[in-house]
Amino acid sequence: MTVPGKYLRGIPINLSEINDIAHAATSRPVILGGPIRLGYGTQGGSKADDFDLPGLMLALKDIEALTYDILGSKSSFHNPESIPQRSRSTVEIARWSVKGAFVIKQHPDYPHVMCELETFRGCGRPDHCSFCTEPFYGDPDFRDITDIISEVDSLYHNGARYFRIGRQSDLFSFMAKDTGDELLRPDPKAIERLYKGIRKTAPQLKVLHMDNANPGTIAAFPDECEKIARTIVQYHTSGDVAAMGMESADPSVIKANNLKAMPEDVLDAIRLINRIGSARGKNGLPELLPGINIIHGLKNETPETFRLNFAFLKNILDTGLMVRRINLRQVMVFPDTPISKENNMDQYQYHDQFIKFKKKVRKKIDHPMLKRVVPIGTVLKDVMCEVYNGITFGRQFASYPLLVGIPSKLPTGRFVDITVSGYGQRSLTGVPYPLDINNTDPKLIYYLPGIGKKRAHTIIGKRPFIDQKDLYDKVEGIEETLPYIEFRD
Ligand code: SF4
Repeated sequence: MTVPGKYLRGIPINLSEINDIAHAATSRPVILGGPIRLGYGTQGGSKADDFDLPGLMLALKDIEALTYDILGSKSSFHNPESIPQRSRSTVEIARWSVKGAFVIKQHPDYPHVMCELETFRGCGRPDHCSFCTEPFYGDPDFRDITDIISEVDSLYHNGARYFRIGRQSDLFSFMAKDTGDELLRPDPKAIERLYKGIRKTAPQLKVLHMDNANPGTIAAFPDECEKIARTIVQYHTSGDVAAMGMESADPSVIKANNLKAMPEDVLDAIRLINRIGSARGKNGLPELLPGINIIHGLKNETPETFRLNFAFLKNILDTGLMVRRINLRQVMVFPDTPISKENNMDQYQYHDQFIKFKKKVRKKIDHPMLKRVVPIGTVLKDVMCEVYNGITFGRQFASYPLLVGIPSKLPTGRFVDITVSGYGQRSLTGVPYPLDINNTDPKLIYYLPGIGKKRAHTIIGKRPFIDQKDLYDKVEGIEETLPYIEFRD
């Protein structure tokens, strides 16, 4: 994992699991691929190390290309080490992604599968951020727009309905031109062609979200990026997030690590995305909001860095802007990145301070921000119930979904609309919308907006109700709750 994380129904694979898989397949080559070729690490604040798993072949470049070459040659199937390793080309992706789209049917959650569409990889900056592994992929290798649309078409005909335009380090730089500046100049027309084409070929898609955006690009090319943001909002589905790698608000850290944007640039980018994306969309969430990624453990970090990072976030909160997600992590140091030459991460000196900082941000920024982004009474559409553990946990399909806890047992694998009625630190509490007040689990009544314990008891004692008037006559102070309930026999 280049960006380790915690997820509702999955955790990153560990070496012993990889080993078990390798040894379960005895009569065929087992190839391991992906970012793990750069090293293996379990969490930020540590070093990604070399590892040795006997009986397993590591794809040193692209696993797709290696697999293709092995399958294409009978002799190498039994002797895969003899195959020269290479990177796949965008022409190959075009072919393989269309022919291989059927594979989504094998996913255990099919048809509820989020399909990530690659637009390009690599970074167009002449000098790179100290921690980043993306420059290992070279200059951006943009995929043809028609190829990406053909991939969507093939996935769509195989039942896919959820898409995220991901992988690239900056969607706003897709098809951007090198004009000799530090950053590539965005091409709004190319992004419009991409989004328009996807919607045309997949008219009934349910989710179309994006992933990363470089705040430096948005600040440097505000006119082009405003057009791009408007295109995204026109063709995507709501609840979208432009995750921005800010990394640090400390100018001395930014300089020492060659980061891409100064705090004022990031603030400009956040303002622009808010201006265009903050209206509430069909799924109950704002159309498009920025996310912010901050990394600690970079060169020149001091206790002052924590103060500056917190002050930056606090300013966003105080100026009324919205941010959907603040990702705080400790750097993972990969071999051959500039930072690896100076920081072996054996002991991250500010680890304790980082933990304190994280707690403070969760409490003082995330929590009030969540209340602003998703106020009580918001109806979130199509939350998929995924896990029951005393509470049913669900999420909307999204690039960066919010976790919703429903304090009752609901069938998993099913979608339900939810009225937001409370907050965890980074999650929501909700009840099904509309709530069938006559028959529902009594526990849920307590969680309806504007109810509380006492009124919940009264309602439970006086059930059933014929209609709103009947409820209104029998229970005092119920007005606020009426929009969220229904009356079944
Ligand atoms: S983090 Fe820095 S080096 Fe990496 S892709 Fe973004 S701008 Fe390029």
